Amino acid sequence: MEFTPRYVELARSGELSRRAAAAAERLRACTLCPRACGVDRTAGELGYCRTGELPAVYSHMSHPGEEPPISGTQGSGTIFMSGCTLSCVYCQNARFSQGGEGAERSIADVARMMLDLEAMGCHNINIVTPTHHTPAILAALEVAVGEGLRIPLVWNTSSYESPETLQLLDGVVDVYLADIRYAEDANAARYSGAADYATVSRAALREMQRQVGTLRVDERGIATGGLIVRHLVLPDGVSGTSGCLAFVASELDSETHVSLMSQYYPAHRAHEHPRIARRLTASEWDEAVAAHAEAGLINGWVQAFMGEVSPIAGTNLEPDE
Ligand code: SF4
Repeated sequence: MEFTPRYVELARSGELSRRAAAAAERLRACTLCPRACGVDRTAGELGYCRTGELPAVYSHMSHPGEEPPISGTQGSGTIFMSGCTLSCVYCQNARFSQGGEGAERSIADVARMMLDLEAMGCHNINIVTPTHHTPAILAALEVAVGEGLRIPLVWNTSSYESPETLQLLDGVVDVYLADIRYAEDANAARYSGAADYATVSRAALREMQRQVGTLRVDERGIATGGLIVRHLVLPDGVSGTSGCLAFVASELDSETHVSLMSQYYPAHRAHEHPRIARRLTASEWDEAVAAHAEAGLINGWVQAFMGEVSPIAGTNLEPDE
């Protein structure tokens, strides 16, 4: 059966246009993310994310290195947005997430990027760090749908999302590719500048799960909908791996696809923080893998130690009916 992304019907009914307008209205006293800065981005004021009214894009490309159902054989159509609502001291993308690199683009430009990525054969449109650009992404999506865009929309998020913004995405996003970064707010405050991250992200993940459910794939094994949860294991227990994974298994669904990542290295300002100023040890990684199994999670991918992604034994990823 031919796949039709969820956003197509919303575009046809006019609802996507209403969502884009509602999101844009929230730029006037910005509450797009849980920081609720209240600045008027339409008047040039900048909040924590240092992002104006127009979308700012660092790059767009076909990405071969995401999880197998996202990158497939043709790559994921990735658009890296500039700015971020977090300020992780170890961010690997700090040049454009915190350093201001990237260029303001028009809505039409972003729509053209989406269409170009589809024309390249990419399996999906994968917006990286999208939250603070929600109005522009929704507006660009509407334009692109009118020009024929028909591949799934992937919301590649830190999970630092407000309930109101997630409501705007209900029925728009096909796949949430969502981090769970910390189990403890104190560590989130110290290393990502978000003292409520653990609490906020758990509520957000519950809502994402409600919206899209567990992962579904087509006959090629490409994601057509659902939730993938990512967890980057940090040194010295900082990310609270066992707590994060226990939450996913017990409060989302034990069939949730989890991507457990070993690739941490001390980028950006991590060297200023002794607990995370090094790579993982092999024993830390072994503990994380054991925690994944102990949580009862049965689907997803576990990276080799600082290496390639491999499926979890017993992974259960069947095509959509
Ligand atoms: S999106 Fe940016 S300006 Fe708006 S509340 Fe979040 S950090 Fe503040």
